[in-house]
Amino acid sequence: MLSHEQPSSVTFNQQSDTYAWFSQRAWVEIDLSALSYNVKQILRILSPRTQLMAVVKADAYGHGAVTVAQTVLESGASWLGVATVPEGIQLREARIQAPILILGATHTVEQIHAIAQWKLQPTLTNPKQALVFSDTLAAINHNTPLPVHIKLDTGMSRLGTNWQEATEFVQLVHRLPSLAIASVYSHLATADSPDPTIMQQQQQRFEQAIAQIRSIGIEPPCLHLANSAATLADKALHYDIVRAGLAVYGLYPAEHLRSRIDLRPVLQVKARITQVKTIAPGTGVSYGHQFIAPHELRLAVVGIGYADGVPRNLSNKMQVILRGQQVQQIGTITMDQLMLDVSAIPDVQEGEVVTLLGTEGKEQISAEDWANQLNTISWEILCGFKHRLPRVAMG
Ligand SMILES: *Cc1c(COP(=O)(O)O)cnc(C)c1O
Repeated sequence: MLSHEQPSSVTFNQQSDTYAWFSQRAWVEIDLSALSYNVKQILRILSPRTQLMAVVKADAYGHGAVTVAQTVLESGASWLGVATVPEGIQLREARIQAPILILGATHTVEQIHAIAQWKLQPTLTNPKQALVFSDTLAAINHNTPLPVHIKLDTGMSRLGTNWQEATEFVQLVHRLPSLAIASVYSHLATADSPDPTIMQQQQQRFEQAIAQIRSIGIEPPCLHLANSAATLADKALHYDIVRAGLAVYGLYPAEHLRSRIDLRPVLQVKARITQVKTIAPGTGVSYGHQFIAPHELRLAVVGIGYADGVPRNLSNKMQVILRGQQVQQIGTITMDQLMLDVSAIPDVQEGEVVTLLGTEGKEQISAEDWANQLNTISWEILCGFKHRLPRVAMG
């Protein structure tokens, strides 16, 4: 853990290639062996007919999309899920060949051209959008049918056609020669709840819609419904593909699902101490003097702040791990820096590394811990780390 050594690893996702020691005031470490382990753990609970789509939207939940995509595909995932066209293009530009589903909505001619050009697979959410796709592909003489994924709304009330209107929608797409139905899918609203009632209702609606689609002689080649929580909760929700995000990154969607599978957090956040000083009793710390030293204390400044994704609302509430021991953060967290009370470790040196999220010795601070403190979810914490933190791949 000590001092001035560089992390022994490859740095990626940095904005410039001029990163030297001094600019690595703070970074995100990505444990690729944990990532691979998680993929294999998820695959162990899937039946052989079910494939894993690793959801790598939002820069792989802040982990770095290209590196994550390469690792999960090597580890046994077969599909990638992204939210937007640029996220898909980024993976194709990195020469990733796996099928990529765009989970979000796409409408414009530019988006459709890019989807065709980069061999991405769009989600179709309604008949009007299907017709726009068909017309646009015809106009560019796209010769092979574009694989498309039909999204049904079974109770999330987000994207998709109402499950009761599934047949008409599927029939329309089926008849458009420029489009080929690759799957029919839906998304669950409450899969992380210990009460399965609403989830089961959504599954029944999904089943009902599929039965009706089959009754008009169309067999969807592939069905999918499960996110991470549903993947862990119930094998009956797995169908042909599971779309897992959070679990791939080693976090549990809910406490009651923890016993289902062993997962290892992939991401750690680290930063360096940039100055150490002693302050007298009564001295105010940081903006607004929200912390006043109750006694003489040893203070360390750390080079990470809210512009890096450390939530300012954790001011005076969070701990970090220093030399395998938890120390208290004090004063308001500022844009690029925060302060610690290191009185328990008075010989701390400038350049030493602290762990904000991660494990050091016996101590662990997880994204769930921050989420609980902030009354939010770990997904939001992971996605909050900004691009100015270099992502450093380990292992
Ligand atoms: C983000 C997303 C997922 C992955 O959700 P996790 O809870 O992170 O596993 C799956 N499906 C859709 C449609 C999504 O938008």
